[in-house]
Amino acid sequence: AVALSLTGITKRYRNTTVLGPLSLELEKGRIYGLIGENGAGKSTLIRIIMGLSKQTDGDIELFGRSGEGDLTLARANVGYVPDSSASYPLLSAYDNLKARCLEWGIDQNQIPRLLDTVGLAQVGTKKARSFSLGMRRRLDLAVALLGEPRMLVLDEPTNGLDPLGTMEMRNLIKRLNADRDITVIISSHNLAELNRIADEYLVLSAGSLIARLSSSDVRGDS
Ligand code: ADP
Ligand code: ADP
Repeated sequence: AVALSLTGITKRYRNTTVLGPLSLELEKGRIYGLIGENGAGKSTLIRIIMGLSKQTDGDIELFGRSGEGDLTLARANVGYVPDSSASYPLLSAYDNLKARCLEWGIDQNQIPRLLDTVGLAQVGTKKARSFSLGMRRRLDLAVALLGEPRMLVLDEPTNGLDPLGTMEMRNLIKRLNADRDITVIISSHNLAELNRIADEYLVLSAGSLIARLSSSDVRGDS
């Protein structure tokens, strides 16, 4: 089944095309690695998928829904980890999640379980500003998981993390995909970083999709 379908997606600023035209279909339940150097258009594409930026041209279908109103509904099923941490530094991890629950009208009873999922249960009452970058990124992931999304879209979630933090984030994403059948789009400028997580790689260069590679292509399995 198709989770996301893009047709002729283009983004232009004034006369400069920074993305597309791009068409692709992503299957449910898989992990897609969005690969490309800085400026390739990864964030632009992700922001368009999330409805945070409007495409200049082209159509989006998410879980079979298209058109402004229906897409907005469908996006409620997509958790988003932005490219830089969106947590409130002066609030505790718990209160960060609570604030989002209030904002989005989501039940707060899932907060303890989510803190546990991302490995922050022991520091739930500590302020986010005391957290390491890796902990803050895991808090962002917990926020993205509020409301039990069917899809996760993560914009460079391991950027700036040390090897241990990178490994923790990778393992978490893999586990979420396996346990809950969540479709994942995860971007990185480093192909090796997504090795053994992504089922498929979408390679962006200068705003164009230049390759779709399976994990076996990338690993060199036979
Ligand atoms: P990536 O996420 O792969 O690093 P981006 O999507 O952030 O790439 O950027 C793609 C291109 O679009 C870059 O050349 C960037 O400078 C340009 N760009 C992004 N946002 C804007 C904007 N608001 N106005 C003009 N150019 C932009
Ligand atoms: P739009 O609403 O037109 O789709 P976006 O939401 O994609 O625009 O991006 C708007 C933001 O990007 C603005 O805050 C702008 O300051 C910033 N921006 C402007 N130029 C660039 C650039 N070259 N690269 C990245 N971001 C940019």
